[in-house]
Amino acid sequence: MVNPIKILDSETVNQIAAGEVIERPASIVKELVENSIDAQARYITISVTTNKDYITSITVTDDGTGISDEDLPLAFTTHATSKINSASDISSCTSLGFRGEALASIASIAYVTLTTCHEQSESGRRVVISGGEFLESTPIGAAKGTSVCVEQIFFNAPVRRKFLKSRTTELAWMYDTVEAFCLHFPHLFFRYMVNQQERISTHGRTSLREVMQTLGFDDTMLPLLDEESSFPALSFSGYISKWDRTYQAAHKIFLSVNGRRIVSTPLISAIREGYADLIGKKEFPSAVIHITIDPGEIDPNVHPAKREIRFADETAVRKRLTSVVSSSLVFSSVFADKSLPVVQEPLMELSVASERNEPGSIHEKGEDVHEPPLYPSSSSPSLFVAEAAQPIYTPRLQKQAGYRLRQTKLTQTVFEPEDATVSPILHPDIFELIYVGQIDCTFLIAQVPLENGGMVLIDQHAAHERIRYDQIMMQRKQGIGSQELLEPVILSLTPLAHAKLLDFLPLFHEMGFMLEPFGRDSVRISGVPVTCGHIEKPSVVQEIVCAALDYQDYERAADAVVKQMACHHSIRANMPLTCERGTELLQQLAQTHEPRTCPHGRPVMVHFSMEKLAGLFKRT
Ligand code: ADP
Ligand code: MG
Repeated sequence: MVNPIKILDSETVNQIAAGEVIERPASIVKELVENSIDAQARYITISVTTNKDYITSITVTDDGTGISDEDLPLAFTTHATSKINSASDISSCTSLGFRGEALASIASIAYVTLTTCHEQSESGRRVVISGGEFLESTPIGAAKGTSVCVEQIFFNAPVRRKFLKSRTTELAWMYDTVEAFCLHFPHLFFRYMVNQQERISTHGRTSLREVMQTLGFDDTMLPLLDEESSFPALSFSGYISKWDRTYQAAHKIFLSVNGRRIVSTPLISAIREGYADLIGKKEFPSAVIHITIDPGEIDPNVHPAKREIRFADETAVRKRLTSVVSSSLVFSSVFADKSLPVVQEPLMELSVASERNEPGSIHEKGEDVHEPPLYPSSSSPSLFVAEAAQPIYTPRLQKQAGYRLRQTKLTQTVFEPEDATVSPILHPDIFELIYVGQIDCTFLIAQVPLENGGMVLIDQHAAHERIRYDQIMMQRKQGIGSQELLEPVILSLTPLAHAKLLDFLPLFHEMGFMLEPFGRDSVRISGVPVTCGHIEKPSVVQEIVCAALDYQDYERAADAVVKQMACHHSIRANMPLTCERGTELLQQLAQTHEPRTCPHGRPVMVHFSMEKLAGLFKRT
């Protein structure tokens, strides 16, 4: 039997709305800080408390306009807002909020105490509201502004509570949220505290560059130079990283449109296009970009949490962004008298077989070559915006990483023979390649033993990386042993990185790392997997271990660590190989799962068929 239709009561309506607006504790921070900014606050303090498992309270205090006694009950009513009067105002509104549902939503799923003093009032008022019901309203003395304390988050939404991630992860989301506010509002004063400890403090009246420095961004980031535009009221400002400072995900790209932080896959692609071939197919720069556009050219009302916006002409915005990024890279390098790496088109299109997946290339037809994922997890993309937003690890700039090495001497370790594991796979086409020689101690040449087979060029480092990756993966299944370091390596980490590494402790132990907590925010590594082979530098241990930090998921983190282990100790460019070693390398490569790409997805080999070679010499 179908139940009769009924109108839901307001509490249920608010809880449903809360389900969309308040995804997790960080959404509360976002909504409350947005309200403070809309109330013209200059000083905003975000204070969070936790127990060992959960966030126990979030308090956002501001020195904004405050809320008058008359408006106070309305503030918690759904669709009650001081920011717009009608739908037509949305297109011209410059405030961050306009739907009037955040406070009502928060109060429907938590216990809220709001203390406020309106700018024109003598005294303040405190109200307590929970499950949508006013429990208390008392006049009290209070400083001008508003303070909202939210406790018992999701107390009446057990399902939502169940889906919350670890305390560390939720704190990481919050850090990311506050970080984005600091970056998008550098002229405001933000203070972020967790359990009374200060995590972020920005000082207002400062430049974006200074805020970025405070937040641990790379000093070498280049200013975005906007050019004259015929497109009405569209401008870009901010910073982008140099082409050699990249990440495996988009978590270091912060975008705002008229002050509103947005997540936009098309705009991230536009930025990457600006780098053209300067960055790899799976690499992402870091960027903080403020986009200013005529409010009439956007619709901010397309996402429940207002995380996405719609542009009237997205193509034009994308094109301009690509061109601004590209010209800023060129200008900065010329201005700084530093040469931009020359990007040369490959000799022939077919040569980048595995990058372009072209028919007729050595890359198997129909094989799936994916665009890199914007975020390295299958979970919600912005988690990774959150997860790695804290300056926990800058792959190619360890000085920025927020930790330092105290020990330098390591045990000399025995090199693990490469034939330790025999792969049951064999790619006969590669196994049968005839080794010809080496070019510039970097590339190998092999002949394809088929009629009109032509030749293959192989990147010796990429090939060896693939071999080592597969070997380590196999050894992982059988259990990897440890080798003790002569002197342990101590890594000093940021609190977030520390918490994350500890979350991954079982993974590190399983992989043969002897890693343990060591005082506040440090870890001690006294042993590394035998498969790491001979390790000379603690920085290598650091690089391998910290590869996990970009990831949330165990397997992805493990994969990143294995890739790093594979990369370390691989044959490098500029290493001479004997004929036997070259041949052996090809044979080992033939036994890997995916001999055509390295574990990072770069091509291992390019193929020139006889036909193509003949074409080059105009012999056709
Ligand atoms: P919205 O921000 O979309 O208007 P909210 O539910 O977030 O909806 O807030 C409702 C109203 O409460 C706001 O329109 C604003 O008038 C008032 N308000 C909320 N927080 C503050 C604050 N920190 N300072 C001043 N006014 C506030
Ligand atoms: Mg609001």
